[in-house]
Amino acid sequence: MTPIPFQNSYARLPDRFFARTDPTPAPAPRLVALNRPLAADLGIDPDLLASPDGAAILAGARVPDGAEPLAAAYAGHQFGSFVPQLGDGRAILLGEVVDREGRRRDIQLKGSGPTPFSRRGDGRAALGPVLREYLVSEAMHALGIPTTRSLAAALTGEAVVRETMLPGAVLTRVAASHIRVGTFQYFAARGDQEGVRTLADHVVARHYPHLAAGENPYLALLRAVVEAQAELIARWLQVGFVHGVMNTDNCSVAGETIDYGPCAFLDAYDPAAVFSSIDAGGRYAYGNQPRIVQWNLARLAETLLPLIAPDADAAVALATEALDAFAPRFTPAYRGGMRRKLGLTTEREGDDALADSLLRLLAENEGDFTLAFRGLADAAEGRPEPVRSRFIDPTAFDGWAPAWLARLDGEPGGRAGAAAGMRAVNPAFIPRNHRIEAVIRAAVEDDDFGPFHALHRVLQDPFGEQPEHAAYRDPPALDERVTRTFCGT
Ligand code: AMP
Ligand code: MG
Repeated sequence: MTPIPFQNSYARLPDRFFARTDPTPAPAPRLVALNRPLAADLGIDPDLLASPDGAAILAGARVPDGAEPLAAAYAGHQFGSFVPQLGDGRAILLGEVVDREGRRRDIQLKGSGPTPFSRRGDGRAALGPVLREYLVSEAMHALGIPTTRSLAAALTGEAVVRETMLPGAVLTRVAASHIRVGTFQYFAARGDQEGVRTLADHVVARHYPHLAAGENPYLALLRAVVEAQAELIARWLQVGFVHGVMNTDNCSVAGETIDYGPCAFLDAYDPAAVFSSIDAGGRYAYGNQPRIVQWNLARLAETLLPLIAPDADAAVALATEALDAFAPRFTPAYRGGMRRKLGLTTEREGDDALADSLLRLLAENEGDFTLAFRGLADAAEGRPEPVRSRFIDPTAFDGWAPAWLARLDGEPGGRAGAAAGMRAVNPAFIPRNHRIEAVIRAAVEDDDFGPFHALHRVLQDPFGEQPEHAAYRDPPALDERVTRTFCGT
């Protein structure tokens, strides 16, 4: 059997960074989803993972050669309140591999049993949240957005106790790393400056190696994370993604989207949209995401202050400057993305107002965010109906469109060029909540994974027309609307 080519680095860090913990053997491993192309990218033989041995590994029943299973320590602000010790309570890092492109990547099991960080939790995951994370993370990847990936989903053969008994499952997650803002907070909160420094050096070497030789690598690290997060959040907004739990422990220092819990994509455009059942105050609402990620980044900055400069005031001044780099990075990323969504490749005064007024009209008319933008390509080709029909009052679009069409006429590629450009950035297919819920119902209640695989296939090509799958574009009917999602922990 070709082994998994582990090359672990996190396990070489000091013992206080983690607790070595094996997954709990699953009684009856059964693979329900395997990401073969990702396995190949990682240099892992997909046929190995598809074999009974592979299923055992992916359900946590067998520790593969070369793995050094561990649960990582981290802290975090959850909804603004600091918890000095969270850690991997239901996740176990098997190890790292270096992929075909030379990138180091974590392979982690999520839901494979308790760890020393489990607190009152059972360390398990139910099938529903596992399928949800698999679908949404892979959809985000297909949309071109930095994200953790899903290598596999496996049933354990054990039931987990939630409100009801549910099938237990394990998600195999792949990430540039699982190091979070909360990992830095863990050491800082203990006054463990040496820990913060060791972690920072590891993160620089692993994610931002070009910064290592600079004059102040720790300040440069802060700035790099600020920039990565600014770019990431701009991308989220452009596809209508709401993360739902942007706690500092769910904020990756590598700039990937991580921890898909009560996340959702907007149907109707609403900047105040909240899906998470536990986000009563709307802290993590769609439109609040740029603000809240800056709050998280400020918490990262605090942990790095002593490394940034020996003098406290000087350190604060430098860190503040690095944090202030968020807006100059976010705004052009967001604005540029919105221009491309409108079919604009050049930049003119008035473009931002054009985008903002369309969004305002969409909000007023409860227009579907994804389909309205997708329909703009048709409108540019003289067929306004697909986008008009998204508005409660279609004349709202009629009032907006002439200025936009005139603007397209000033583009080098004209309306036709703009239409092609828009179809390449405005997806037709997103993982809509009601579809995900239906897929989960079929899997959990009927052991039918057909709908899961069908939805997954469609989401692999979000920008394609896929006329045979047109129904997957549709927003939920009134009685299909899902307004609340749950963490499923
Ligand atoms: P999350 O909501 O996934 O960001 O998790 C927040 C914290 O709760 C992390 O420390 C998790 O490891 C922990 N946690 C979540 N679910 C469970 C569970 N079922 N058992 C043990 N710990 C959990
Ligand atoms: Mg988390």
